[in-house]
Amino acid sequence: MRTTRAIILWSFAAAGALLLAACTALTTTTVQAPGTSKASSLFAPSDAAKLRDSQVDPFDDNHPAISNLDPQLRAALQQAAAAAKQHGVKDFWVTSGWRSEDYQQELLDSAVAKYGSRAEAAKWVASPEDSSHVTGSAVDVGPTNAADWLSRKGQRFGLCQVYANELWHYELLTSPGGRCPAMRPSAAG
Ligand SMILES: [Zn+2]
Repeated sequence: MRTTRAIILWSFAAAGALLLAACTALTTTTVQAPGTSKASSLFAPSDAAKLRDSQVDPFDDNHPAISNLDPQLRAALQQAAAAAKQHGVKDFWVTSGWRSEDYQQELLDSAVAKYGSRAEAAKWVASPEDSSHVTGSAVDVGPTNAADWLSRKGQRFGLCQVYANELWHYELLTSPGGRCPAMRPSAAG
């Protein structure tokens, strides 16, 4: 039983790696320089309210939080979500994906109000200039079960937890099956 599961798991990981490698090859020519946000030009102001959705289906390519993600990150996320489901993780949501600059500023303002200072808020919420959500290179995942699964298996898809204090925040920081860089204590350090 265990062996069968391991084989299934391994086959899936290998297929995922191949698929991601193929996607990487196809999208290499369209990779943007960091900080150039082509994504925001696709964003209709009427979609602003949707960015507050906290249980977005990772496969909903029509949702601005998903459609504006870096295509390679989105592919890895969707492979991981499919694998998680196969491994018994019932719910797998994007609690926050791509964010507009305005929405990021709003989040920062509420964090400053909540934590009482900009320095303390910076441990949890980046500025619009620094946020990897604004450039489409980060996703927050929930609920806790899904985030926990991703913290253990994400690197098979190149997805890495970035901050020790944010179990939910993932970025594409390695190749599929590669090693994730050491976590930073928080967004502030
Ligand atoms: Zn995040």
